[in-house]
Amino acid sequence: MNELISARVNALAESETLAMARRSRELEAQGHTIIKLNIGEPDFQTPEHIKKAAKDAIDAGFSFYTPVSGTLELRQAIAEKLQRDNGLHWKAENIVVSTGAKQSIANILLTLLNPEDEVIVFTPYWVSYSEIIKLAEGKAVLIAGSIENGFKVTAEQLKAAITPRTRAILYSAPCNPTGAIYSFEELEALARVIEPHPQIHVIADEIYEYICFEPSYTSIGSFDFIHDRVITINGFSKGFAMTGWRVGYMAARKDLALACDKLQGQITSGTCSIAQKAATAALKDLAPTYEMKDIYQKRRDLIVGLLGEIPHVHTIVPQGAFYAFPDLSHYVGKAHNGKVITSDDELAMLLLTEAHVAMVQGSAFGATNFMRISFAASDDHIREAIKRLKDFLVKLV
Ligand code: PMP
Ligand code: GLU
Repeated sequence: MNELISARVNALAESETLAMARRSRELEAQGHTIIKLNIGEPDFQTPEHIKKAAKDAIDAGFSFYTPVSGTLELRQAIAEKLQRDNGLHWKAENIVVSTGAKQSIANILLTLLNPEDEVIVFTPYWVSYSEIIKLAEGKAVLIAGSIENGFKVTAEQLKAAITPRTRAILYSAPCNPTGAIYSFEELEALARVIEPHPQIHVIADEIYEYICFEPSYTSIGSFDFIHDRVITINGFSKGFAMTGWRVGYMAARKDLALACDKLQGQITSGTCSIAQKAATAALKDLAPTYEMKDIYQKRRDLIVGLLGEIPHVHTIVPQGAFYAFPDLSHYVGKAHNGKVITSDDELAMLLLTEAHVAMVQGSAFGATNFMRISFAASDDHIREAIKRLKDFLVKLV
């Protein structure tokens, strides 16, 4: 522990998704060929119409600070999108554009939480949720969906977890890491549990919305009786293959939007002006987004089939996002070269250093002995990675 670093930052864990990316880069620098299925990042190029809008913006000299919450043009386009796709009735004044969904989640948690306030987090959860809650001095209360229920939590579980200190509920759907999506009926049941508790807000992270393999997608904010208590998080990284452009957003009640605007105004201001022009163009043509989705769906089928050929590995079929999340518990506790593998962390490290495949251990997402495998990669990489995984696992004794 470094005493020159604040207790706040000392207490934070490094993002495991980013840590695995760092470790695989280190091995690559030593000359190894690593198949990287660790990071949640589209392998596609940003679509042409989006790139063109950015180039045009540079040429037009669109290089000044924008409003903290984003340009009016982009916020209006987002408000229209939310009305059209999600049944959410927000205006531009309810939207706060940020430097990625990650920042939007941090903005709203810092805005809602006082020390010791509780946030109910649906588990498995995305790595950064627990750490951002910690940063905001809140307490994450984890409720876990069972694999039998497709990793989804039930209304009964939610009801049992609510206490007088509960201030928010936080989940992603499609879920990172499981790909689970809540149906209309399941969301309505969850929303009914929250309805009688005016102090509880729902933070719905919908960043994988456009990578949805189901016929329809429901946003929890579309239920009128809780609409004003839902904070919808979304962004351009995943559906538009724009991870490096850094544009995300939040849609929420005006008091919350204003509070997040104030917070963001003291930390980062508005995100990149050029990237905002690109994001505005992105929302005008979704054809490339749906083409990418169709390709992810074929890869999903490929990886689920290949994982099914490994003995004792159980995987649910992801309904969205681009992650498979197999249960590898049969293999944790077995030995490699005479040394027992005691945890999924160790297994992920051995897969990296011995089999040269990068994946992220389930414990980083609150689900021990699972492994998150991104299928935002070519068919050849998926085939080779799962072959390496299988060859490694079946040799363990
Ligand atoms: N939420 C989830 C569930 C994610 O997987 C990610 C991954 N980047 C984010 C939020 C943050 O996205 P970004 O900051 O790139 O918009
Ligand atoms: N969300 C991605 C992931 O889960 C990107 C990495 C990150 O921002 O943590 O891998």
